[in-house]
Amino acid sequence: MNLEIQTFDTGYGGANFTAMYLLKLREGYAVVETGTAPGIPGFLEKAEKQGISLDQIRWIILTHIHLDHAGGASLLLKSCKNAKIFVHPRGARHLIDPSRLVASAKQVYGESEFARLYGTIEAIPEGRVRTFQDQEVFADQGQDVFRFHHTRGHANHHFVVEWIPERTLFTGDTFGLVYPEIQELARRQGRALYAIPSTSPTDFDAEEAILSIDRILALRARDFYPTHYGQIFDFAETARQLKDWIWVSKLLQDQARSELQAGSSFEEVCSRLEKKLLENLNRNWPSCPDRVVEILALDFKLNAQGITFSASKS
Ligand SMILES: [Zn+2]
Repeated sequence: MNLEIQTFDTGYGGANFTAMYLLKLREGYAVVETGTAPGIPGFLEKAEKQGISLDQIRWIILTHIHLDHAGGASLLLKSCKNAKIFVHPRGARHLIDPSRLVASAKQVYGESEFARLYGTIEAIPEGRVRTFQDQEVFADQGQDVFRFHHTRGHANHHFVVEWIPERTLFTGDTFGLVYPEIQELARRQGRALYAIPSTSPTDFDAEEAILSIDRILALRARDFYPTHYGQIFDFAETARQLKDWIWVSKLLQDQARSELQAGSSFEEVCSRLEKKLLENLNRNWPSCPDRVVEILALDFKLNAQGITFSASKS
């Protein structure tokens, strides 16, 4: 357990689903991920209770701009007047002008559900956004602090954040979803932690996802923190489970492509894939508790959509 890292539950998706990390640096603080805007007041309150002045938050780092990771960025930035946002070069323009991002999410969720889930997302001034190329290092006062690793597979604008002095990785959605509640249920049945990848729309790429996992492992970090959720310890087993799912997803992508070509609708293919993902869960984890199925239902739905979408493009 690294005492310099605090995990805040943003509340998005339920308890212990979506994290925000506060890092104590040699001078000041950094935040990795912001969750969604409705979670920000809770974070500010907790930070204040701990006597952390928001002026000391210097960097807000977003692994990618999906709204569960970055939706709260504009609101948080307003309270942290000295902070800059660090983001992948392909993500920056959507922070500076979020209109397209917001419009497409509103199309999916509808106006009122969008407001409930994501609140208000405002444009971020260009001068407060800094981008990093693959492998680029950010140094402060002569010390290397962060290195950024571009990792495709989940999203083309995703990077993994390496906190160099602590040999710690913040893996965003590149090293899977590992929910604590599922880990606990697995442990009770004598099973290893249970991880699934996020293959949600619109950039899922199986080969790139596998490459990214191997690149992450090759960094030989001491600690791993996926955004969903909290520190994980068994990296090799996580990687094994993720790769297994990604290969299954790749096979399903091929099937989806044939079905789409044969005239099935996008929705029909998605609902068949959702069932296939559930079957794969039951194959990997016979007599898996109903609660696990319940927790993963939304991810399976999104994953099926992402696989179908990628099949429709290729
Ligand atoms: Zn994502």
